Amino acid sequence: MVIVGAGLSGLAAGVDLSSRGIPVLLLEERPYAGGRARSFVDETTGDVIDNGQHVLIAGYERTMQFLATIGSRHHVAVQPTLVLAFHHPVRGFCTLRFPLLPSPFHLLGGIASTDLLSPIDKLRLLRAGRELLFPPTGGAGNHPGLTIAQWLDAAGQSAETKRSFWEPLALAIMNEHAATASARVFLHALHTAFVRHRRNAALVVPAVGLSSLFSDPAQEFIRTHGGSVRCRTTVVATRMDGGRVVAVRTREGEEIPCTSVILAVPPREASALLPEPMRAEGFMKEMAAVPMSPIVSIHLWFPADFMPQEHLGLIGKRIQWVFHRRKILREKGAGSHLSAVISAGDREVEMTNEQLVALASEDLVQVFGNEAGAPVHAVVIREKRATFSCAPAVDLLRPDQATPIPNMFLAGDWTATGLPATIEGAVISGERCAALAAQRAG
Ligand SMILES: Cc1cc2nc3c(=O)[nH]c(=O)nc-3n(C[C@H](O)[C@H](O)[C@H](O)COP(=O)(O)OP(=O)(O)OC[C@H]3O[C@@H](n4cnc5c(N)ncnc54)[C@H](O)[C@@H]3O)c2cc1C
Repeated sequence: MVIVGAGLSGLAAGVDLSSRGIPVLLLEERPYAGGRARSFVDETTGDVIDNGQHVLIAGYERTMQFLATIGSRHHVAVQPTLVLAFHHPVRGFCTLRFPLLPSPFHLLGGIASTDLLSPIDKLRLLRAGRELLFPPTGGAGNHPGLTIAQWLDAAGQSAETKRSFWEPLALAIMNEHAATASARVFLHALHTAFVRHRRNAALVVPAVGLSSLFSDPAQEFIRTHGGSVRCRTTVVATRMDGGRVVAVRTREGEEIPCTSVILAVPPREASALLPEPMRAEGFMKEMAAVPMSPIVSIHLWFPADFMPQEHLGLIGKRIQWVFHRRKILREKGAGSHLSAVISAGDREVEMTNEQLVALASEDLVQVFGNEAGAPVHAVVIREKRATFSCAPAVDLLRPDQATPIPNMFLAGDWTATGLPATIEGAVISGERCAALAAQRAG
């Protein structure tokens, strides 16, 4: 069984098939596995840097199980209940904390007690929450064509609730602005996080680099179960015979026979590997051309430790979230190592490193004072193709994991899972492919 792509969807498929006693061969183009969730060591400081800060939630059930299977569940810190820290330009430092009550009372308690919003805006939030809890048939949230912004208007949300609550949430969950992103996918994610179980929304923050958390132990698991992972191997074509895939061809011209193939690569790359008639099909052609939304991460090191929080959402600033890596990863050394994140940063991704560091420092000075203005070291990471831009029309294009070819499957955060482009979506898609491939292989 061949899996093309060793990102999280390919690794999840590989681990699942390995657990079923089916050995796999993963072929990965880059020199390392992990895809869009990987880490490396900063040579200047020796600190581990992720390609972008990843935050999970306790409701990522398949991801948590995946971590348990590969033996790295102990590397994540799970909040007992959701606690989010914000800085608001007028209200200052604020907290949204959900009490330990059964759902939906935890939601009511959290909204009622936060100092992030005025009493009237809290009532507005409860109105939107009602639609989340009891979606009316044919209501705004069920409409596949609506953007989040359109749904918020229909749910009577004020400009302030949009700015201080909904837009930061949309950017964090969808990596897209509320004006563009699909309301249906957003509401599905909110339902999973906030309605199913009170524990689900709690943040799960990796306490090690992403490669130590995901790709290193997953590759080890696959190898000890008889499979292998070959990096620096680009697959350029699939060969068909009698309506089935019989081999994949690498850039070097090697032909690798296969009983089934899982294409766990982004949509553009998957489209190029499909046989001609499928590639030309409307949805796949359109999916391959779907716009991607960038994420910019700015790592900053300071001699002083001025940030008491582990994470902080910045309202009304260009930086949206700051993570205190030294605290989260228990890094050695004095001072602080912060990671500032800009999601859906179409403009920022084009800026120079100097401009981005200056922008981050300016925002941090406004929040923490002058100590935050003089970083001694900085690293900027631009992920231009971080996630697909999940607009309502794009969500409807997302293909199923099964294809018309009985032994070819599609995995990736962009396939139809109902979720935004997330680790959980990637893991679910990989496991679905594994189940289908195992079933069809008998
Ligand atoms: C900066 C950033 C921050 C993020 N933050 C979060 C977060 O906080 N929470 C969250 O849940 N998600 C987050 N995500 C999204 C998450 O990382 C992705 O959803 C997930 O990693 C996607 O995995 P995948 O397997 O679908 O795709 P990928 O990781 O893209 O894997 C595809 C793999 O296929 C390989 N490949 C491509 N073409 C070929 C070929 N022809 N032959 C061989 N190999 C090939 C690629 O090199 C790649 O390794 C973030 C993403 C980024 C970039």
